[in-house]
Amino acid sequence: MKILVINCGSSSLKYQLLNPQTGELFAKGLCERIGIEGSKMEYENPAKDFEITLEHAMPTHKEALNLVISAIVNPEYGVIKSVEEIDAIGHRVVHGGEEFATSVLVDDAVMGGLEANSELAPLHNPANILGIKTMQELMPGKANVAVFDTAFHQTMPAEAYMYALPYEDYTELKVRKYGFHGTSHKFVSGVAQELLGNPAESKIIVCHLGNGGSISAVKNGKCIDTSMGLTPLQGIMMGTRCGDIDPAAVLFIKNKRGLSDKEMDARLNKQSGILGVFGKSSDCRDMEIGAVEGDARALLAEEMFAYKIRGYVGNYAAQMGGVDAICFTGGIGENSGKVRAMVLKGLEFLGVDLDEELNSKRQKGNVVLSKPESKVTVFKIPTNEELVIARDTYEIVNK
Ligand code: AMP
Repeated sequence: MKILVINCGSSSLKYQLLNPQTGELFAKGLCERIGIEGSKMEYENPAKDFEITLEHAMPTHKEALNLVISAIVNPEYGVIKSVEEIDAIGHRVVHGGEEFATSVLVDDAVMGGLEANSELAPLHNPANILGIKTMQELMPGKANVAVFDTAFHQTMPAEAYMYALPYEDYTELKVRKYGFHGTSHKFVSGVAQELLGNPAESKIIVCHLGNGGSISAVKNGKCIDTSMGLTPLQGIMMGTRCGDIDPAAVLFIKNKRGLSDKEMDARLNKQSGILGVFGKSSDCRDMEIGAVEGDARALLAEEMFAYKIRGYVGNYAAQMGGVDAICFTGGIGENSGKVRAMVLKGLEFLGVDLDEELNSKRQKGNVVLSKPESKVTVFKIPTNEELVIARDTYEIVNK
């Protein structure tokens, strides 16, 4: 069984060909600068330890996907003889709105639903839809499955997802909390539950900390709250996103600085977060180096970053009436022992007893970072969003 997983952005495209049952990865890569001069494709065949970067014109996603297919079937470094070996295609779709609480087989009605949700994710959904349409054109007859970033969070109760706005903003405009990174939260909380020995009841907090970041509360396998909102801007401080702020600050800054809507949006999404406070970079590693060198703004950014995540951990422990496990994932969560330690500092009252030595070691795979006597188990669990997409696709096409 081979599933092609496609994650289309507006000018980029990530892909993986993998076995959904074993997780074996046959090929993966990335096309960048689609529709822009200087486009290139990275391709990797891990079994052969083979990597190549091809500079090739990709005016649209169609050329990019054609290039991906030619690489996968290349007689020299490809991994399959023909596209017939691909069983189905799984697509990451950012926004499923309220209609899509699970992954779905794409048909005309689903395409209509995806188009309708584009309003909620104007930067992402149109690119995801384009990826599906292009694959339908390039591989007619193959099943395409849409896997949503928002779906896992659809189990949130109304008191968690509603904003205290006039009710018609929800009923007429669909303004509510949706949450994102759902495939990651689903995967990591699922692994944690298994590592806990599949107890009948479980209270798990997942901290997905990458360039974008979100925290979720998963009670008995179901998401009951998450930090991102209508858009990925809400929640913790991120690489370049501000996270939670007073909404009145947006109008104040916009008016004082005379910014357009687009400029204000860019200020909040692209110039804030670690980049905004630290000032030199949005990258956690650069912030950590700055802090070690005594840069006051790096030190502040680091403290703020941990403070805001810790706040969510406390909030979600309160909402679930306790916590059995806290999981760290994403580029920062998996790699920065310093951030993990700072986040957990002061949470001893919850029953967290971190093994500082284990936490500071770099280890591959799933690792328990808390002491055996810790009431709360702290995990580092590498996320695998593509595997969730491949598994869902496999399940749906086999139904
Ligand atoms: P992601 O979006 O999941 O790829 O994560 C990207 C973030 O992970 C960036 O902020 C990186 O600085 C951070 N990151 C990657 N490796 C490390 C590391 N060894 N220590 C600290 N942060 C890291």
